[in-house]
Amino acid sequence: MRRMDAGCGWAKVAVDGKRNNGICLLVFLLLKLRSKASADSTSNSSYTVNIMANTTNPNPEPLPADKVERTDADWCTVLSPQQFEVLRKKGTEPPFRNEYWNNHKAGVYRCAACGLLLFKSDSKFDSGTGWPSFSSPVAESNVKLVADNSHGMRRIEVECPRCESHLGHMFDDGPAPSGKRFCMNSASLKFYPSIDTPYTTSKPATDPSK
Ligand SMILES: [Zn+2]
Repeated sequence: MRRMDAGCGWAKVAVDGKRNNGICLLVFLLLKLRSKASADSTSNSSYTVNIMANTTNPNPEPLPADKVERTDADWCTVLSPQQFEVLRKKGTEPPFRNEYWNNHKAGVYRCAACGLLLFKSDSKFDSGTGWPSFSSPVAESNVKLVADNSHGMRRIEVECPRCESHLGHMFDDGPAPSGKRFCMNSASLKFYPSIDTPYTTSKPATDPSK
């Protein structure tokens, strides 16, 4: 694991201003997605999950197409040093010394950087790797898969399609029916007990790897 970026301090959390913009556009996109979700429910997509259940949350559900772009300096103001290293510099946290590898609570996991809904607890399984592992994301469109040939290996990197942060890797040795294992970094995720729990992009109070 690479050294933490000493320049990324623990400054006050900033609010994602983009979420406050384009409410009308979001409503339109949500309606559009709803009709697409209905169409998808009749397909054979193994990833199709109803993410439109979020009807009581006053926060608009962020969509993959609602892009978030920040400079490294800006990311430093909303991410902890460990989150910055993993999410923005493609680092890897240590196994078994991270927040969610052994979390069995029911709920949802969002991108720690931008709040995009990524996984539900019912797809989480004990992979024995020491990292939180999921058999499928909430929707195929809510993860971005990228070829990763670094470190002499051929792997598939998983990124957040909304903010292009690094989340982890996907492997083909997961449980049925998807056969996939989404091996994530806890630092890239933020757990909420319900899809209706208002999300934040705040930093953790303590670094669980220490
Ligand atoms: Zn994100």
